[in-house]
Amino acid sequence: MCSEVIIMEELKTTIYKKAQDLGAAIVKTADVESWEKEPIQDKSFWPRNIWPWSKRVIVLAIPLFLPMVNSTPSMLYQELYNTSNRIMDDMAYNLANYITMLGYRAMFFPRDCYADIKALLKNPAAAFSHVVAAYYAGVGTFGDSHNLLTKEFGPRVRLVSVITDAPIEADGKLSEELCIHCGKCLRSCPSGCFKENGGGLYDYDKRACTEYHVKLSDENHFPCGICANVCPVGDDMRAYRREAAITEAGIRHVQSYGS
Ligand code: SF4
Ligand code: SF4
Repeated sequence: MCSEVIIMEELKTTIYKKAQDLGAAIVKTADVESWEKEPIQDKSFWPRNIWPWSKRVIVLAIPLFLPMVNSTPSMLYQELYNTSNRIMDDMAYNLANYITMLGYRAMFFPRDCYADIKALLKNPAAAFSHVVAAYYAGVGTFGDSHNLLTKEFGPRVRLVSVITDAPIEADGKLSEELCIHCGKCLRSCPSGCFKENGGGLYDYDKRACTEYHVKLSDENHFPCGICANVCPVGDDMRAYRREAAITEAGIRHVQSYGS
């Protein structure tokens, strides 16, 4: 094995250990060429079109705990969401800082990066998609709900990305599709956002989803996440298979307080 390969392997081990120490449950890397070789978004979203020095995108994921997700919409879930946001941005900032200290270029793209949910009514997309990055990096695959599904937590994950020129080996996409096309997300969406179209991914009415989130935000129990809540994919579901993560009475109880 040549010394350059050993250095790249050591660098990857070092950076992944740091990410795990910072709290990342899943760490995977995509080559920025993936955006160009298998385009999902138009060129204006490709990392090299925005940051010409970039070589890799390191995606970090943390779980959303099932008993808390099950209570959605609730203040309990909103607090989980807020906590995950804070942790992800801290984690990604610190990892970008660590990589910079190693002598490489790095920055992070914050997990949401919009000022207010109402901004998405005007332009319902982020300047960079962590879901697309996570797909290229092999964190998971697209569900029919357009959520990223992971083996570990199904769609009950939050994602953030570090963009860098550190020459670590990319992990590659997952080879198996995780969505089992059960239709639970389609039937459960309170806003009827999904429509079957004879293919895999459902047609998705982003505006209807955003309008529902504006309503939930005004009622102080944001976000929705029901499509993630009902999805049967994920080892986290298996952990609770023999008993409910929260009782029906418990959900009503939790929803009755705090908002
Ligand atoms: S987040 Fe809620 S409103 Fe939006 S698609 Fe999922 S279930 Fe529907
Ligand atoms: S709920 Fe079913 S159809 Fe929807 S994303 Fe999950 S596995 Fe796929």
